[in-house]
Amino acid sequence: MQVQDYKFFVNGKWTEGSATETFDLRNPATGEVLGRVARATKDDMYEAVDAARKAFQAPAWRDMEQTKRGKILLQLAALIRQNFEELAKTETLNQGKPIRESKADVAWTVRAFEYWGGLADKIEGETIPVTSNRLTYTIREPLGVTAHIIPWNYPLALASRSLAPALAAGNTVVAKPAELTPLTLLKVAEYAQKAGLPDGVLNVVTGSGSQVGRALVSHPDIDGITFTGSTETGQQIMGAAAKNITPVLLELGGKNPNIVLPDADFDKAVQMAKFAIFTNAGQMCWAGSRLLLHAEIYDRFLNELKRQTELLKIGPGLDEKTELGPMVSKEQQERIVGYIKSGQEEGARLVTGGSVPEDPALKNGCFVKPTIFADVTSDMKIGCEEIFGPVLAVFKFNSVDEMIHIANDTNFGLYAGVWTNNLKLAQQVVNRLQAGVVAVNDYLVAYPQTPFGGYKDSGIGYENGMQAISHYTRIKAVTVNTS
Ligand code: NDP
Repeated sequence: MQVQDYKFFVNGKWTEGSATETFDLRNPATGEVLGRVARATKDDMYEAVDAARKAFQAPAWRDMEQTKRGKILLQLAALIRQNFEELAKTETLNQGKPIRESKADVAWTVRAFEYWGGLADKIEGETIPVTSNRLTYTIREPLGVTAHIIPWNYPLALASRSLAPALAAGNTVVAKPAELTPLTLLKVAEYAQKAGLPDGVLNVVTGSGSQVGRALVSHPDIDGITFTGSTETGQQIMGAAAKNITPVLLELGGKNPNIVLPDADFDKAVQMAKFAIFTNAGQMCWAGSRLLLHAEIYDRFLNELKRQTELLKIGPGLDEKTELGPMVSKEQQERIVGYIKSGQEEGARLVTGGSVPEDPALKNGCFVKPTIFADVTSDMKIGCEEIFGPVLAVFKFNSVDEMIHIANDTNFGLYAGVWTNNLKLAQQVVNRLQAGVVAVNDYLVAYPQTPFGGYKDSGIGYENGMQAISHYTRIKAVTVNTS
């Protein structure tokens, strides 16, 4: 890809605003510069919020029939589908993930715009019985201008997860992609305009979190905030939102237990334990980063998982054979290597990996070998903190009670996997797990129609499905006295 200069998108126009600086985008597999993106300023962000406010008040959007609004989102889905290969390639070059995974992300994005496009004219109120001479009903109205802070691990899929329901509900939006990975969202802005979205309804502003991100979430004219990212940044955003009483939807990561009981389908559970942690090089809030194995199968399972992990093909994401791509940046690579060091210092047993690859062809990329630590306990850093890399922490348990204790012994509570053929036991485990999403005999399953959100420090509110519509709308209760 040629080095290209990228502008941001405000009020239907590509602009550099008042930016005087640019940010170099690098291919994480090679370190090569892919492009330069304008670093918007606080003033540019204020302009974007202003444009979104005017677009919210304008009849072109406010008075648009819901069905027509939905059709624009369906047209956007069609344009994304038409540009499927280009979007997937751009995502891989910018973020690093294997091309197969980028294709899955683009497919998810198409489904998301289709799902919420279809829902746009089904956002309904209720009638509520009160007294015989009064008619009470509710109307669901859009919030207004919504802010979307997008992380770098699923730049396209996570952008669509919040933008599609916000737009379907009739809001106007300002999105800030992570500075490292803005390219696919900028493409979506281009397609949205082609699909017929009025100017100012979708604005995408590039720049750093500490500058324009902060300016966006602290803005008094924002009516709702959606954020996916670290717990620390989530806390800052919630603090900023508190000043303006702005509702927040926060998805803040996890340290998810993937639990295997002795009667589980062994081969499938091994294969999926590998998939659960090494997909997207482990840079996932829902990664199966803690593997809980029953003592009866512990050694056999670990041996087979080690064998299969060592066969994983590491390389640039654009190589169709690649199974494990690089970390998104050198900073993330160093962070992961730091966690590996701490695991060794704290006495966990290194089963495989534990360093950057020796292959000279990979030396300029941000790669880390797939790593497994056994005999991990919850008090170790690698046993309780979100690593966000290809590092698996394996725990041993002897009883269901012990397993539940380990599974819940974390500040997070986003996702969990349970592997057993005993469905009665599975249901008991599901009931006792402190996690917002649980997969039984499966892992990494999410659909636009399935709620996704966490317990404890994993966040507030639910993405996806009708629950997401609740975040992007407010309710007006109306009573008409008919006597
Ligand atoms: P952050 O939470 O800091 O970044 C996520 C997003 O928030 C980015 O778009 C970032 O912008 C933006 N941001 C940062 N600071 C602010 C702010 N004060 N106000 C508004 N927006 C802001 O995560 P990092 O990229 O620093 O990654 C660190 C760790 O966070 C990871 O190792 C992982 O553990 C976790 N994480 C979890 C994710 C998840 O899916 N739950 C996703 C990403 C990270 P910019 O990057 O441009 O500065």
